[in-house]
Amino acid sequence: MVADQLIKAGRRFDARGWVLGTSGNLSAVVRRDPLRMAITRSGTHIDENGAASGGVAASAEALLHLTIVRTRNAGAVLHTHSIWSTVLSERFGDRGGIEIGGYEMLKGLAGVTTHEHREWLPVLANDQNMPRLAAVVEKTLRPDSHGFLLRRHGLYTWGATVADAARHVEILEFLLESIGREQESQGGGAWRT
Ligand SMILES: [Zn+2]
Repeated sequence: MVADQLIKAGRRFDARGWVLGTSGNLSAVVRRDPLRMAITRSGTHIDENGAASGGVAASAEALLHLTIVRTRNAGAVLHTHSIWSTVLSERFGDRGGIEIGGYEMLKGLAGVTTHEHREWLPVLANDQNMPRLAAVVEKTLRPDSHGFLLRRHGLYTWGATVADAARHVEILEFLLESIGREQESQGGGAWRT
């Protein structure tokens, strides 16, 4: 059951501090035609409530999940609110994204076979207007995209299955934290990618 898989993924993310304080949403496709998704309820701690199947009205951000499922043919969409995704989204916001290259962990992203891969992780302006934001997401995503950041908000990533999407969360969070810590060790504003 995808709902059980979402609950398990949510517990793992919660243990890492990536979905604190009722934040984040996790969703998965239950059935393609007609499309039905299971999605965690916004405003409810995922540890206690898990995924609510049978409808996408559970969360204000559900429209984004639907857009990603449609445009990327994803089987699961996971959204976290980690410290590092928030910090780096602000730090790189004016550049429109973060280019991540040279890390072995990049190979954990679907279709990536070498650390020499250069991943472009877009940073989009945060927006409470979900239809408008969904249109921006649809326009921004490239065929080879694995995720994006919302500025001062968090990370969205996806995958063919819940397991694939959860791996992408872990890989991207690892990379963001690595970049953030590396920049801090280099001292303040002198960061680069
Ligand atoms: Zn959010």
